[in-house]
Amino acid sequence: MMYGKASPRRSDFGKIFVFFILVLVISTTVFVKNYFFNGSNSLKKPNKPPSSANATLNNNRSESLDQLNPTRTSAGPIKVVYELPEKQPVVYITIDDGWYPNEEVIKLMQQYHLPITTFLIEQAAQKHPDFWHEFVKSGGHIEDHTFSHPYLTHLSPTDQKNQISQPIDYLRQFGSPPNELRPPYGDFNSEVGQAAHDSGIKYIVMWDAEMEYSRFTTRSGLGLKAGDIILLHWVPGLDQELIKLLNIIQKQNLGIADLTQALTGEPLTISWIKASIPAPKPTPTMSTSTTTSGNPKTPGTSNTHRTSNTSGTSNTPGASNTPGASNTPGASNTPESPDTWGA
Ligand SMILES: [Zn+2]
Repeated sequence: MMYGKASPRRSDFGKIFVFFILVLVISTTVFVKNYFFNGSNSLKKPNKPPSSANATLNNNRSESLDQLNPTRTSAGPIKVVYELPEKQPVVYITIDDGWYPNEEVIKLMQQYHLPITTFLIEQAAQKHPDFWHEFVKSGGHIEDHTFSHPYLTHLSPTDQKNQISQPIDYLRQFGSPPNELRPPYGDFNSEVGQAAHDSGIKYIVMWDAEMEYSRFTTRSGLGLKAGDIILLHWVPGLDQELIKLLNIIQKQNLGIADLTQALTGEPLTISWIKASIPAPKPTPTMSTSTTTSGNPKTPGTSNTHRTSNTSGTSNTPGASNTPGASNTPGASNTPESPDTWGA
C-alpha cells in the first residue's frame, strides 16, 4: 500500500521536472537568439524609442556633459569637435534626438532668427516629417544622430555604418545631406570614426555646454563663452529651456551662428538677439542655478542680422553645405499630429 501510493507521486514529480526542463531550454534558446543575433542586424530590428519617450512627462536626455572626454580629438580619420574657436563672439545651439517636436520652438526660431542645428534620429524624424520640414524652413539645420540611437561602439563595423549612413539618405529630404554626426550618448571610438568617414561624415560634433533640466552648465564650470557648442534635447518644455538659454546668451552679449558654417569656414551669418526675451515660465523642475556670470547689456529694440568672416576649424577645405537651406519639395507643412508635438 505504501509503495503503491508513493509511486504515482514520483511519477507526477517526474513529469513536472521534465516540463520545467523544457521551459528552461526554450527560454534559454529565445534569450540567446535575441541577445546574440538581433544585435548583428540592428537596422532590421531597430531599437525601439526609449520607453520614457512614451511617458507623460519625459525628461529623458540621452547626452550630457558627463559623457565628454575632450582629450579624444579624433576618431579614426574623423575630427571630433567639442567647441569652436573664439574668433567670433558667437555660440552654437544644438538640439538632439527629436521624439518631441515643439511648435513653440519653431516660433522662437522665426522670431529671433535662430540657426539651430538638430542632430536627429531617423526613427524620430519619420514620426513627424512635416515638422522637420518646417524646422528647416525656419532656419534650422538637420544632421545625423543615427537610425535608432544605439551605443555605436557596441555594434559591428557593418552595423555602425548602417546606423550612420541610412539617416544620411533619409534626412537629405530636409536639405543638404548630413555630414556631421553626433554619436548617441557621446559614444564613439576609431571604428565608429571609420564607419562615419565611409558614410560621408566629415565631423563628429560633441558639445561643451548644456541647458538640461532647465539648468545651464559648461564643461569648464565657467560661464558661457564664445565658441561654445550648447546641447539641448527635444523634450517637453524645450521652449522654456530655450528661452532661458536665450536670456543667458543675450546677457553675455553673444550672437548665435550656424554650426555648419563655422565648421566649413564659411562666413558666419550671426543672429544678435536685440529684442527683449520673455522670462521663462517657472516649472516644478526648474532650477535657478547657472554657472554664467552675467555681463548684462541693455537689450535693444529689434533683431538684426550681421555677417562677418571667420576661419573655422575646417579640416576639409572646399566642403560645401548650405546651412538652413529650405528644400521641401512637395512637402506639406500641415502638422500630422500637432497634439503630440511637445509640451
Ligand atoms: Zn541622443
